Amino acid sequence: GSAVSLQNVHKTYHLGEPVHALDGVSLEIPRGSYTAIMGPSGSGKSTLMNLVGCLDTPTSGTVVVDGRDVGSLSDAERTTLRGTTVGFVFQTFNLMPRLSALENVAMPQLFRNIGRAERRERASALLERVGLADRADHLPNELSGGQRQRVALARALVNEPELILADEPTGNLDTETGANVLELFAEFHEAGTTMVVVTHERHVATHAERIVHLLDGTLEDVESLEESDGTD
Ligand code: ADP
Ligand code: ADP
Repeated sequence: GSAVSLQNVHKTYHLGEPVHALDGVSLEIPRGSYTAIMGPSGSGKSTLMNLVGCLDTPTSGTVVVDGRDVGSLSDAERTTLRGTTVGFVFQTFNLMPRLSALENVAMPQLFRNIGRAERRERASALLERVGLADRADHLPNELSGGQRQRVALARALVNEPELILADEPTGNLDTETGANVLELFAEFHEAGTTMVVVTHERHVATHAERIVHLLDGTLEDVESLEESDGTD
């Protein structure tokens, strides 16, 4: 079945002249698949991600995430679906400035019925996985850009979401840190997580199984990639 299904989705913003950010997009994202989304600035990539991530609803058409029609859910129901199903890795890390790296990573687990000790243990294990075990007690402004990105990544992964949405996840990382992030994505994909990654970098997109190309709010092309052995 599909993790996400879009049927003839339109999204129109009204700021004076209407802007057709998405103009009739239909797309199936199979469970466990790895999809990259590419397209020029303004082509609708962020709008698409916001819909897939249940942050917004379509103007018309249907968006079904994990079997639920997002357009028919209340705000509270969408928030719950997001919190339990989706992990976001966005460019703006949105870390809580007064919380340590460990506390930031532990926070999404407050949605769940897990005790404090276990929350901290899981957060600590993930920080170790992203190479920040020695920074657990640092505040975000005591970390470099790359380190903050990795804290945000650990936070997105801590609830083991079924669907990971990443917007330019390697955008402001050095080569090595970026490669580590892509390696983590590959591990989650192998474990069965559905991955959707927006990128303007072809070498990042080719880690996916297929590339969805957007142009002016429409789906220009879906490019299938050869099964990669990871050595490209
Ligand atoms: P991309 O992520 O590919 O750069 P976006 O989805 O951000 O594209 O934007 C698609 C179009 O929708 C652009 O013309 C953009 O200006 C417009 N747009 C996006 N978000 C909003 C908004 N909140 N209000 C008005 N227009 C918007
Ligand atoms: P990265 O490649 O991860 O972005 P940087 O080269 O920016 O790393 O940072 C190198 C080191 O400097 C890191 O160990 C980081 O902890 C430290 N550092 C960077 N910015 C700050 C800051 N604002 N306050 C304290 N330490 C910092």
